[in-house]
Parts: sequence; structure tokens; C-alpha cells
Amino acid sequence: MDFQKNKDDVFLAVAQAAEKAGRPIESVNVIAVTKYVDSSIANKLVKTGVRHIGENRVDLFLDKYNALADQNLTWHLIGTLQRRKVKDIINFVDYFHALDSVKLAKEIDKRATRRIKCFLQVNISGEESKHGFDLSEIDEVLSEIAQFKNLELVGLMTMAPFEADKLELHSIFSKMKQVQEELSNRQLPGMPFTELSMGMSGDFEIAIEHGATYVRIGSAFFE
Ligand SMILES: *Cc1c(COP(=O)(O)O)cnc(C)c1O
Repeated sequence: MDFQKNKDDVFLAVAQAAEKAGRPIESVNVIAVTKYVDSSIANKLVKTGVRHIGENRVDLFLDKYNALADQNLTWHLIGTLQRRKVKDIINFVDYFHALDSVKLAKEIDKRATRRIKCFLQVNISGEESKHGFDLSEIDEVLSEIAQFKNLELVGLMTMAPFEADKLELHSIFSKMKQVQEELSNRQLPGMPFTELSMGMSGDFEIAIEHGATYVRIGSAFFE
């Protein structure tokens, strides 16, 4: 596998999508999702110059974190986190992308020894199978989370349905942008909501068009 070529291809496509959207390239952060590979392969990808690493499971996150801890990377936990595992991991996480319940927020607040940057996960398509808050719940959720001083709500995260066509992706990502801006404009304490975590290997260009600031890309690095 030619990791340097894959990395260059992904970063070029990201840069082109940013340019097309009239956005500065620095406004889009590429998270390399390494869940498909072991830490020695992940290390090869790191050597090509990626700076953000994402994992969706606690055990896989800790494997990579322990193996690559000395490389000054930024660490993203992008998948569902069970409450009982919060204590094992939360203080190693730079960004947690999958905050999907108030109970989880409470546990993070209890276990964190510093302020953890979190994305509220939004189930914008209303799919039963997906984690995340419905849009209609957000106001109440924010009023409850406001008491948790060890959380900073930096933005919103979503996963588009696997089978979504282009039209649907445009509509989902533009709705996310609209909601994120509305929340950001409220200027709530501890809730800047300046970021948008959306876009994966199959749809990051559309996500960037609609304002994604963190794209989570896995398979495109490993094909
Ligand atoms: C695996 C995963 C990704 C990356 O998906 P690819 O299609 O491989 O780019 C992004 N986000 C989450 C939450 C994931 O679990």
C-alpha cells in the first residue's frame, strides 16, 4: 500500500473541495480514521504527515494512543462511548465526537480532569438505528448540559445514512450547517458551536461544500 500517495490524494481532494466552496484550506481538518488497521500500519500513515487520528472504539483508541503517544497527534474519539468506559479513556481524548445523551455528559463531567471538547451528535435523518439527538431535543439538552463545567460543546457531528443519495446528502449537510450557525449565534457559555464534524470517505466533498470543519476519513487512506 502506498500510504504517501493515498494521503496526498485525500488531502488534494480536500483542498480542492475547500477551494471550490471558497473556504480557506486551513478551515478543514482531516481526521485519519485508523480503525481498520493495527498501530504499526497507523504509524506508517502518521509518517506521511497526518496530524489527527480518529478511532470509534475505546479498545482500538487506547491501542493506537499507547503506541503513538509520543508523536504529538490530536486524538479524536468518533464513536459511541458507553458510560462505564468513560473513566478509562476520557482524559486521553482531545475531541469526543459522539455525545448522544445527557447521562453520558454527566459521566464525562464527573471523570474529566480538564475541559473535554465535545460534539453533540445529531440524528438529522431521523433514522431509528442511528445514535444522536433529534433536533427537537436540542434546546432541552443544552439547558441540562450547561451545568457540566468539564464539557465544552465545540460543535455538531452527524453521520449521513449509508444509502443516502447526493441530493439527500446536500440536504442533510446544509441543514446541519444551518443548525450549527444558529447555535453558535446564541453565544452560550461553554458552548461555542463553531465546528461541524461531518463527511467520510464517500461524502466528504459534499460535507466540505456545506461547511464541515472536521472530516472523518478512513477507507480512502487504506485502499
Ligand atoms: C469508520 C468511521 C468513519 C470513516 O468511514 P470511512 O467511510 O471509512 O471513511 C467516520 N466516522 C465514524 C463515526 C466511523 O465509525
